[in-house]
Amino acid sequence: MKCTKCGGKAVISVLQHHLGLCKEHYLEWVPGQVARAIQKYRMFAKTDRILAAVSGGKDSLSLWDILHRLGYQVDGLYICLGIDGGVNYSNESQRLSQQFAAQHGLTLHVVDIPQVYGESIPQIASRTFRGRGAPCSVCGLAKRHEMNRLARDLGYDVLVTGHNLDDEAAVLFSNTLRWAGGFLARQGPVLEADQPGLARKAKPLCRMYERDMTAYALLRGIEYIYDECPYALGATSIYYKELLNKLESDQPGAKLNFYLSFLQAKEGGLFAPQADPDRAQMHPCPSCGQSTTAEGLCSFCRMMGGES
Ligand code: SF4
Ligand SMILES: [Zn+2]
Ligand SMILES: [Zn+2]
Repeated sequence: MKCTKCGGKAVISVLQHHLGLCKEHYLEWVPGQVARAIQKYRMFAKTDRILAAVSGGKDSLSLWDILHRLGYQVDGLYICLGIDGGVNYSNESQRLSQQFAAQHGLTLHVVDIPQVYGESIPQIASRTFRGRGAPCSVCGLAKRHEMNRLARDLGYDVLVTGHNLDDEAAVLFSNTLRWAGGFLARQGPVLEADQPGLARKAKPLCRMYERDMTAYALLRGIEYIYDECPYALGATSIYYKELLNKLESDQPGAKLNFYLSFLQAKEGGLFAPQADPDRAQMHPCPSCGQSTTAEGLCSFCRMMGGES
């Protein structure tokens, strides 16, 4: 196969776009696609201060690399969860995030959950109702809270995460199976800071396939953690990703279509903000100041106070 751009030897085929690309043009094409998404969804400008949540994985480190190459002012945030896996998952992912920052002369903020709160994510999970089974709901809640806290306290204009198209399509699939109006109304490339204490959020990789991001990280020579978090095994989101991959293998481009037509339908008025009744009832948490729908303290503050 030949590179569509230069006629040289292609190292990758981007099926959904009918492209074959050599290494050089692939490493140009991916940031170009990301730049287009940033523009199209008005995610942020060159003057904005951006905080990228990094986990040591291929998506978040590639996102940091791409935004830096595109000339954005972007610092990193690593949240240490205190999760032990076969290779000590948290230590290794932190080491790789710090290594990336040092190699590129970038600033990385580190929040160490066990140090700040005195307990690791699995320990918090083991004493709360939320943590029955895998600690993922505790983990998700803590990560969202801490990302928001840091972005707001350090004065960043926007928080970016490395969610790719496969992640977004799996969430969309799950929300659609339940016709979860509120979640569908909120899902999108940008979440505005429309409530007190909430940071603006954006997902610049939302149109990039996971396999394309893996290829980018490998061709760019980014060292990232290959192991999944030990708790990811058996997650429903992985099952949904497998189902969508089956569909994609029969119909290349199906995942992208699914997501983009959702965004179009949303723009056309389907899933209007009124579909999200929870949002209307939000108020600032009296302890941390972040917006919550819960009465009194937000779920995170209640969880850390030992309530379930
Ligand atoms: S899989 Fe691991 S990192 Fe992901 S939410 Fe669950 S506990 Fe947290
Ligand atoms: Zn080429
Ligand atoms: Zn709170």
